Amino acid sequence: MLDGSQKWQGSSESIDYKPGRFVYLALLGVSTLAVSALAFFFWYIPTVGLRNIHPALPYILGAALVTGSVFVLGGTAFITNAAIKGRLPFYSHTLRWLLVKFYLPLMVMAGGVLKIPKIKIERAFIDLNNQMVKMMGKKVRPEKLLILMPHCIQFDNCRIKVTRDVKNCAGCGKCEIGGLLSLSDECGVSLFISTGGTVARRKLYEDRPDAVIAVACERDLTSGLQDSYPLPVLAIVNKRPRGYCMETGVAIEEIRQAIRDLVG
Ligand code: SF4
Repeated sequence: MLDGSQKWQGSSESIDYKPGRFVYLALLGVSTLAVSALAFFFWYIPTVGLRNIHPALPYILGAALVTGSVFVLGGTAFITNAAIKGRLPFYSHTLRWLLVKFYLPLMVMAGGVLKIPKIKIERAFIDLNNQMVKMMGKKVRPEKLLILMPHCIQFDNCRIKVTRDVKNCAGCGKCEIGGLLSLSDECGVSLFISTGGTVARRKLYEDRPDAVIAVACERDLTSGLQDSYPLPVLAIVNKRPRGYCMETGVAIEEIRQAIRDLVG
C-alpha cells in the first residue's frame, strides 16, 4: 500500500512510456524537405526543360509514365469488370495489392472531395476483396482457419467471459456466440472473440493462420484488411440492430458459406 507521499512507479512488467517527440520532429523535418524538393522539381523542370538536362530524359519520363498508366488503367479495368460482373477473368496477387494499397486510399481521398459517404467506399472495397480472395482458390486446413468476431456480438448482460476462452459460453441462445461455437466445433476451425483491433492483430501474429474469416463493422474490416494484407481474409459486415458496438450480430449461414469457400 502507498502512503500519500509515495508515487506509484509501475510494476516490473510495465513498459516505460517516453513521448516519441524526436521521431515526430524528424519525420516533420523529412516531410518538409521532401515537399520543398518536390516544389523545386516542379518549378525547375518546366523552366529548364528536360531536354536541356539530358537529351534522353523526355523519352525516359514518357516511357515511365506510359508504363505506370497502363498498369493503373489495366487494374482499373479488371476491378470495374469484377464490380459489374461479380467475377474476375483471372486472379492476380498484384491486383489485390493494387486494390488494398493503392486504390483504397485513392478512393477514400476522391470520395472525400466528392462527398461520397466513406461507408459506401468501404463496402465496395470489402466486396471486391472477398471476390478476389475467393478467386485465389486457396484452400486451407480447418485448423489453419481462424474466425475473428468482435466482442460487441455478445449479449450485453451476459457475465460469462468469452474473450479469454470462447468455450466458456454456455450456449444460452441470447446471442450468436453459442451458435458460432457449435459451428466452429463442427468444422474444426478456431473461433476467437476479440476485444479490439490490437488484440485481433496479436492473435494473428501468435496463431499465424493461413486464412481468416473476420466479422466487424465496415471501418474495422477495412483497416483490418489493410493491416493483415497479404493474408487472405473473407470479411463479413456485422448486423447492427442496436447500432454500432452493442449487441451486434452475424448471419451464421454466411460464416458457414465462408468456411466452405476456404476449407479444402
Ligand atoms: S450465447 Fe454464450 S455468450 Fe451469448 S449470452 Fe449466452 S452464454 Fe453468453
